[in-house]
Amino acid sequence: MPAGAKRFMRMKEIDGYTRTCGLIGNPVEHTLSPVIHNTLAGLTDQKLCYVPLKVEAERLEEAVKGAYALNLLGANVTVPYKSDVIPFLKEIDPLAEEIGAVNTLVRTEGGYKGYNTDMPGLYRAMRSDGVRVEGEKVLVLGAGGVARAVAVLLARYGAEEIILMNRTPEKAQRIADEINTMTKTAIARAMGYEDYELLPKQDRCLAIQATSVGMYPDCGDVVIAEEAFYRRIHTGYDLIFNPKKTRFMELVEQSGGRAFNGAKMLLYQGIIAYELWSGLSISEEMADQVFAAMEEA
Ligand code: NAP
Repeated sequence: MPAGAKRFMRMKEIDGYTRTCGLIGNPVEHTLSPVIHNTLAGLTDQKLCYVPLKVEAERLEEAVKGAYALNLLGANVTVPYKSDVIPFLKEIDPLAEEIGAVNTLVRTEGGYKGYNTDMPGLYRAMRSDGVRVEGEKVLVLGAGGVARAVAVLLARYGAEEIILMNRTPEKAQRIADEINTMTKTAIARAMGYEDYELLPKQDRCLAIQATSVGMYPDCGDVVIAEEAFYRRIHTGYDLIFNPKKTRFMELVEQSGGRAFNGAKMLLYQGIIAYELWSGLSISEEMADQVFAAMEEA
């Protein structure tokens, strides 16, 4: 069937019972979230339609209140509003509060409840790829919003040690201090990229690449280029998904490690949000179908 006919068939399914969800952010034009949620709605036979909702910074409160007034079932929230949206919610899930970022709004009586599905999404993606966190010594590259959330996840899911590395080491140290205070342990520490030689050579680590370096169009970039660093890594998980194989992933593989990109994290953060909105549980078979639709898009 031609793409135009398929689109027409889908449009015909929208009727007076259709519920709307959307993505609040700016920019929103390049998002894959509509592919994820509209495919899920089709696979699960739900009357649900997902659209991008571009919002200017000074109108975020109005946008959240307006979405509620317009009876939107829920929304995702993306850059740059994941923290800024919190004051406009009725309630916040404890994990999202701990992470300090909300990427999913779920309609409740009197307002939206905020969740963070990015981190459970990353955990589910890693499990689906056979990557364990429990008992692991983990290197986190980066100290931005996502790296902080990753560190919270690692502490929650039983990593043995968390080493945060960043271009600006003070930011990595701040996160390490927060994690240690939160967990009342000394599980986290910080170092600069140039200090990787201080890491023991004999035990290889899981490394999570949580910087924006290496993202399209700067595909050849990487925060550490030395081969000696990659010999210390058994698994490299890059949160970037465009390009599909980053330079970081190539370097991990060249040193004999396994490497994964961030596409499955994106998939599972969407699936968990959809499960919250619909009350359904999405099977791995359906997850595979959505992943195929994302790859096609
Ligand atoms: P952020 O808060 O802006 O942090 C950016 C990080 O990258 C910081 O650690 C920053 O170091 C580092 N960085 C940027 N440019 C650099 C350079 N030229 N050299 C060295 N380090 C540099 O961003 P974020 O929100 O944490 O997001 C980070 C990445 O996560 C995104 O780019 C995206 O690819 C990925 N992500 C993936 C998903 C998914 O579903 N797969 C979801 C969300 C995010 P400084 O602190 O020194 O500036």
